[in-house]
Amino acid sequence: LSDRLTGILTKLRSKGRLTDADIDAAAREIRLALLEADVALPVVRVFINAVKERARGAEVSQALNPGQQVIKIVHEELIGILGGEARRLQFAKQPPTVIMLAGLQGSGKTTLAGKLGRWLREQGHQPLLVAADLQRPNAVNQLQVLGERANLEVYAPQPGNGVGDPVQVARDALDHARRQARDIVIVDTAGRLGVDAEMMAQAAAIRDATSPDETLFVIDAMVGQDAVTTAEAFRDGVGITGVVLAKLDGDARGGAALSVRHVTGQPILFASTGEKLDDFDVFHPDRLAGRILGMGDQLTLIEKAEQAFEEDQKERMSAKLFGGEQLTLDDFLEQLQAVRKMGPIANVLGMVPGMAQMKDQLAEVDDSQLDRVTAMIRSMTPAERANPKIINGSRRARIAAGSGRTVTELNQLLSRFADAQKMMKQMGGMFGMPGMGGRKA
Ligand code: GDP
Ligand code: MG
Repeated sequence: LSDRLTGILTKLRSKGRLTDADIDAAAREIRLALLEADVALPVVRVFINAVKERARGAEVSQALNPGQQVIKIVHEELIGILGGEARRLQFAKQPPTVIMLAGLQGSGKTTLAGKLGRWLREQGHQPLLVAADLQRPNAVNQLQVLGERANLEVYAPQPGNGVGDPVQVARDALDHARRQARDIVIVDTAGRLGVDAEMMAQAAAIRDATSPDETLFVIDAMVGQDAVTTAEAFRDGVGITGVVLAKLDGDARGGAALSVRHVTGQPILFASTGEKLDDFDVFHPDRLAGRILGMGDQLTLIEKAEQAFEEDQKERMSAKLFGGEQLTLDDFLEQLQAVRKMGPIANVLGMVPGMAQMKDQLAEVDDSQLDRVTAMIRSMTPAERANPKIINGSRRARIAAGSGRTVTELNQLLSRFADAQKMMKQMGGMFGMPGMGGRKA
């Protein structure tokens, strides 16, 4: 994925502007790359459409070149699909909280039980691990060894009790947890190598016996297209409330995560990144998105470029504010754009304390007014923006025609701007202080 993307985006980077053809070419390449990374086709489609739409609607950034802008959009959309902010575990109102682990054999459930238990204990909980995988001869012992290493109690069927019934073990474990005042019960279940009706039925029976607060679907991040069918089977057969990506330490390309997220509609809660107990963390969508793109350096660069640009803007504005420097129409436009980016103007003002009661009046503040002003300023030459005094009658007619507004509207804008300029000058005089580069009052 990364090589391909880097190739196409380097091509874009050298151009000045993002055209439809650029976007289409990039979209084709990204589509191929995602398919190569084993993201399921329907997911790829949704993703590509979102990226194309945003790239078309995006304003040309002043901080970034076009290539960086596409990377940024792709990255943000990836984060969006992967779930935005990570969700926390849901705890039962009445302890114990039951967390059931489901997934194919070898996906990493048993290992996760140990990691999750340890992580929860570090946060002050008293977890009990339950060995409800009686399928493989060694499964119970594996959990016991993990429990010992993590210093966690493991509930296991007593030896010599005949053929074990995992549903009964889970039930008994819940009773045990209540008696021992354990507030969290983590139930490890049996998997199979492939989707299997018997396994599903058993998992569903354990679910019914324990009413889990969370049913976590554990998936090996290395699996490819199979991720979709497996996730669908667990979604329909057991019901999933969250996803855990295991083996993210491998060279998995992350495509499975995108598919599973899409198919289950459930959040990815945790990531497992190794065989050791502390190779475990809450899931960070932004990190995986960066990894799927394989462009960590580029993303850092983009962030830095944007920060530098913003700081530069801030510095320039405060120089104007406090230094008594002349406000220009370009500054005015910049401020308008900043406000416009925050969303509908009525909503922005509505967030200001005291403004909320003025809903009706606010509704009249129309975003299209901002757009009209923007259009008029954009129709001016740089010299006119820097020094509006030169805008005479013939210039006014030209600007009005160029922006599709009337001369009256333009006159209103210029007179309001002149007022703002005057006010800034007075404020500059007021705020001007030694050491701030301002004028002395
Ligand atoms: P289960 O069958 O779903 O219970 O899977 P296990 O927890 O037994 O894990 C299967 C194998 O994968 C074991 O050898 C684990 O040590 C290994 N494993 C589990 N999680 C991870 C992980 O995040 N990274 C790596 N590298 N190995 C893992
Ligand atoms: Mg296991």
